[in-house]
Amino acid sequence: MIKALVAAAVAATQLLLSTPVPAAQDVFQRPLASWAPHCLGFGSQWRYCNGVPLRACPSGAVWLHTAVDVVASTGEAVMAAGDGTIAGYSIDPQFRGGVLIRHRTSEGIVITQYWHVWLLGGLDVGSVVKRGQVFARVADMGSRTHLHFAVFKGDLEAHAWNGALPPSPCSGFPAFPYRFVDPNAFLAAHQ
Ligand SMILES: [Zn+2]
Repeated sequence: MIKALVAAAVAATQLLLSTPVPAAQDVFQRPLASWAPHCLGFGSQWRYCNGVPLRACPSGAVWLHTAVDVVASTGEAVMAAGDGTIAGYSIDPQFRGGVLIRHRTSEGIVITQYWHVWLLGGLDVGSVVKRGQVFARVADMGSRTHLHFAVFKGDLEAHAWNGALPPSPCSGFPAFPYRFVDPNAFLAAHQ
């Protein structure tokens, strides 16, 4: 019996040693309990649902939707995608609340962006959140109610706020996605 337990423990240890366990700071999760693309707005694959980029300029520059839009219901719980600190909260009359969470990962600073949400009472810029912690609720946008979720690889700067709306002049810089990365691919690579 003891021998079998020891053998099992050794086997478990070997398994742990052979399987690299990512550090907690590098583990991310989806911010909503369900994850279905929302196709009424700007699309969920960086482009309109028909595949067209948001804006293509004669120069060849292309502006993409920087996030995924996910089906959500008003008041639905929004969870932090990873351990981090709330780095920004902005309220827009049309788009409701936008929240930025700053994460320190082994690959550097990553910012996750959540639009069309209301921050929970008691939380503000500077609050520390844990992965999976409910920090906001989905705002009511009528038939266009959804969560806009983006991943920005870099530290806090003005462009980290950019979302679905690209700069209006074609001479504008930068072209997006700039430092935004595909959120679904990022989540899949950081489980
Ligand atoms: Zn969006």
